Amino acid sequence: MTPVTCWDVVVAGAGPAGSIAALVLARSGARVALVDKAAFPRDKACGDLIGPRGVRLLEELAVAVPDAGTGADLLVAGPSRRRARLPAFGGKTYADHGMVVPRRILDDCLRAAAIAAGATPVRARISAADLASGGSVTALITSDGGRLESDIVIGADGALSKVAQLAGMLDPDNALWGFAIRGYIPAQVPLPLLMLLDAQPWRIYPGYGWLFPGADGRANVGIGVGMGRRRTPALLRPDLDRLCAILRREGDISPDAQPGPIVGGWLRMGGTGTPPAAGNVLLVGDAAGLINPLQGEGIAPGMVSARAAAEAVTAGPARAACVYTEVIGELMRPYMTGAAALQEAMLARPRLASAAMRMLTTPPLRRLVAGTWSLYWNGLADGAAPRPSARSAALVQTLAWRLANRPERHGRGGTLQSVQAVQTRRSPE
Ligand SMILES: Cc1cc2nc3c(=O)[nH]c(=O)nc-3n(C[C@H](O)[C@H](O)[C@H](O)COP(=O)(O)OP(=O)(O)OC[C@H]3O[C@@H](n4cnc5c(N)ncnc54)[C@H](O)[C@@H]3O)c2cc1C
Repeated sequence: MTPVTCWDVVVAGAGPAGSIAALVLARSGARVALVDKAAFPRDKACGDLIGPRGVRLLEELAVAVPDAGTGADLLVAGPSRRRARLPAFGGKTYADHGMVVPRRILDDCLRAAAIAAGATPVRARISAADLASGGSVTALITSDGGRLESDIVIGADGALSKVAQLAGMLDPDNALWGFAIRGYIPAQVPLPLLMLLDAQPWRIYPGYGWLFPGADGRANVGIGVGMGRRRTPALLRPDLDRLCAILRREGDISPDAQPGPIVGGWLRMGGTGTPPAAGNVLLVGDAAGLINPLQGEGIAPGMVSARAAAEAVTAGPARAACVYTEVIGELMRPYMTGAAALQEAMLARPRLASAAMRMLTTPPLRRLVAGTWSLYWNGLADGAAPRPSARSAALVQTLAWRLANRPERHGRGGTLQSVQAVQTRRSPE
């Protein structure tokens, strides 16, 4: 006989987004199942850096995580190897620093907090779904034959989201894809470092490398690429070796330092590839494609979206999809849509992008643009405290938004669209 369980909400995926959604829902008294195929603690390919919005959210929810080292200012090295220091500013809606927590620890900690709040952990792989005639998901089916019935489903199951696929919400050809790998390497790193490289002289590499501080004398080294609308397998190991060689030459790591085991993962960026919600399914974090297209950050946007989804459900399950779509559009659309267009524009013009990055890291200019660059690039223009760089970052955001909305780009870009548009697409009859 098939085991059947009934819940108010089933949250599929216990990464940062799923656990925050489950935590907020459980605290509001909802009966929540937090389902994941993995046994925790588990590792996850990541740079382990949580941005300032994530730090603020964890403070607001009173969830303590063991910070392995504060990520404050950020160093960016251009293709010429000159470095710019991007200052961290506190904002009205975010902290004045980031945080470094290995994912094995962070994800376990957030999941434990959700369980302590009353969410029920379920170890299972979601493999199928029962759909009602309007397209709503009435039950998720697990690979061991279990059946999880609920009023609301929150898909928090990562960039390739099985829930989004099963609900007919994933349009892979309209997504902005990326792939990244990382390993741990023995090194003491004072500040997070992002390295913009040339793929060939004066042609920008379609991504960037990083060296982030870590715990126990181990830094996190990795490299990622944007691949546009095609999710094609990328062999990044030779690029990581090249990055490590540069880091050795620059003295960031010791001459004999080698990365340990390398793991990788897909990125879906800019709110592309799926709508945030349809019917009774709300997508959060990577499942909603909410990774920053310019610097690859996904933990903070994932947690922010998860709290918004949980609050929309708590306010009223019947209108949760509409409310969540509106809120997430307001929170994410102004930045994500423009940043996605900017990423595509830069990838299409590697010479111009290489020249621009060289210019931005030259000594006179870098001091001038550092504040604006820091705020815009990290998606922190909205909610910034009043200062000149906040105004110029907001201006850059507006210009990028205009770039995204030029007539020739219509039909491309973000799917942070209206619920009505999604429902029309799902019900052609
Ligand atoms: C190499 C790399 C480096 C990165 N570095 C950073 C960084 O430094 N900072 C940052 O902010 N972001 C970074 N990101 C992005 C970040 O990892 C993601 O944005 C973040 O993990 C999103 O969290 P999530 O909860 O949405 O999804 P995930 O963390 O992917 O969690 C999804 C969960 O769903 C579960 N799951 C999947 N399918 C199923 C299924 N069928 N049934 C049941 N469970 C399922 C998985 O086991 C997993 O636990 C990086 C990504 C990569 C690949």
